[in-house]
Amino acid sequence: MNALVLLVGDPLFLAGVLERVRGLAAVTVETVETAAQAEVLMNESPPDLVIAQARQLTPLSKLSTFRQQRSLLGIYFVVIEDRLLPRLVKLPMQTPMPVEETIEALEAGADAYLWLPPAERMQVPPTTYEQFNRLLQAQVQTGLYRSLAYRDLTQANDWLSAVALVDALTQLNNRRAFDLELPRQIENTRSKAIDLSLMMIDIDCFKSINDYYGHPVGDEVLRQLAQRLLNDMRFYDTPFRYGGEEFTVILNQTNAQEAGAIGDRLCRLMADQVFSIDASLTISTTVSIGIATLQPSDDEEGKSLLKRADQNLLKAKNLGRNQVVIS
Ligand code: GH3
Ligand code: MG
Ligand code: MG
Repeated sequence: MNALVLLVGDPLFLAGVLERVRGLAAVTVETVETAAQAEVLMNESPPDLVIAQARQLTPLSKLSTFRQQRSLLGIYFVVIEDRLLPRLVKLPMQTPMPVEETIEALEAGADAYLWLPPAERMQVPPTTYEQFNRLLQAQVQTGLYRSLAYRDLTQANDWLSAVALVDALTQLNNRRAFDLELPRQIENTRSKAIDLSLMMIDIDCFKSINDYYGHPVGDEVLRQLAQRLLNDMRFYDTPFRYGGEEFTVILNQTNAQEAGAIGDRLCRLMADQVFSIDASLTISTTVSIGIATLQPSDDEEGKSLLKRADQNLLKAKNLGRNQVVIS
């Protein structure tokens, strides 16, 4: 089983747990003595299950602190009380669990709170230890099952989130990613009082490529053009496939004049080199580009900025294509 278990406690406690829990040989086990050491280790590589000696987490607010960290959310925490709780000393052995302490531990974020029968001062029947061992074993199994299931779900979720923002054909960031990113970039630009320009790129007469050579060839042109776009951008400028044969690029720290130069270079880059589809087919195409630069009056979503870039793109088309219009 590919799981990591962290044991937190003094050497005697650690030895006891290792002896009691069967199946730990099948997982990776790390041991530390204190909560502070545990915190360092948990942040480096979050374990799936923690078995901690209660006294190391006292006050229990230490546990709450761990629980508030998002990256530690999936960890299953088993807390074991191995002290002779004063309140319980006088109670008969039949008293199954210290209820108050259990509530407190669960409220602080433990998934399970187990009370080790106090050996030192009481005659403890062997069945009690046996029951404790089974209880701990069951908690370890449940905990590993839960946190591995959580880990699988988190990984699937991360993968889906990434996929949701990528365009399947070109592998560029997609329209959804653009809608999320533009307001973020506008806010960043305004907080730093720098420039930001937005470029809209549309392939010229693309429909005729589809009509003449077929959609698979059109797809290949889109893929190659996207790659060319990506390779030509500075690493902090992000290109997106806005839709169909239209692309946007958010140009960070770029004023209108610089954006115009980038647009001119892109036009040449697309027009001057043919797209090689296969050994016998090359296709020439051009792009038209509309650029707008962020103004103080623009809304924070970027709608007005996008609208101006789009209007400029339309002007570039009307002026004969294969050119840049900027405002
Ligand atoms: P203009 O110069 O005015 O932009 O003309 P255009 O032909 O490029 O524009 P139009 O809007 O008439 O046609 C765009 C075409 O892009 C139509 C659509 O079928 C094609 N298209 C959109 N998405 C894809 C795609 O993923 N793959 C392929 N092969 N074609 C696509
Ligand atoms: Mg178009
Ligand atoms: Mg077009």
